[in-house]
Amino acid sequence: MDVEILGTTEGQLRVIIRNVEPAFVNAIRRIVMAEIPIPAIEKVYIAENTGVLYDEIIAHRLGLVPLKGGEALIHPSECDCDGKGCSKCESILTLEVEATEDHFLVYSGRLKAEGSVFPCNNEIPIVELNQGQRLTLEAHARLGTAKEHAKWQPVSVATVKYEPIVKIDMKSCDLCGLCVEECPKKILAANGKNLIVTSLWDCTLCKVCESICPKGAVNISYNANNSMLMLESTGSMPNEELVLAACDIVSNKCSMLRNALKELPEAP
Ligand SMILES: [Zn+2]
Repeated sequence: MDVEILGTTEGQLRVIIRNVEPAFVNAIRRIVMAEIPIPAIEKVYIAENTGVLYDEIIAHRLGLVPLKGGEALIHPSECDCDGKGCSKCESILTLEVEATEDHFLVYSGRLKAEGSVFPCNNEIPIVELNQGQRLTLEAHARLGTAKEHAKWQPVSVATVKYEPIVKIDMKSCDLCGLCVEECPKKILAANGKNLIVTSLWDCTLCKVCESICPKGAVNISYNANNSMLMLESTGSMPNEELVLAACDIVSNKCSMLRNALKELPEAP
């Protein structure tokens, strides 16, 4: 196995993993998506809401606000309180606002952290109020995984794609430029008397170039032994830490299997 880190651009981490079955890379992707615990709002106690949006909708929108922090929190299922909620497994955020004008937007930045958990981004709109309307609430955040609900998913994007293979037959190609023009990712370019691929990993295997070429000079395929993992965190954890956490989870699962096999009674 050979790993090449392409780095983080625009919040997306790209890692190329060569000479390994794509199922392994996909396992990491699926664990990142569904098994890493992060905090999210689970209960909302609304004391006052004189705006037009129902309490339930506000609670739903608050649940979807990405949160970070809460490193010391424990999962409610493992807590002494048997999941009822206490200071060890829940962190409180409060919101108290009165609109001073019409079309007053209440953003996530107004959520005041009473514990260790706070919003990743302060610019997420929660509700619009008109002058004099009030909203007062207390929200309880807890750890969870996306297996329970998608609001605990730490990534907005997590993909695996095969390494594209773009074959260009320069004997047939007459540099008409149709493929260069039509490629949605603009990865083809004419370079002198040659047609070249400028950024191979941006190819989405859509095959537009292959189908539009009147000479049949372009052929698109892929190598399933080399793949690229791409992650975009919602902000709860940095991309790199998500991969490390997923590796730890795979490793723990393997240890559990190994220990279970060690305890097998010997055959008589
Ligand atoms: Zn508890």
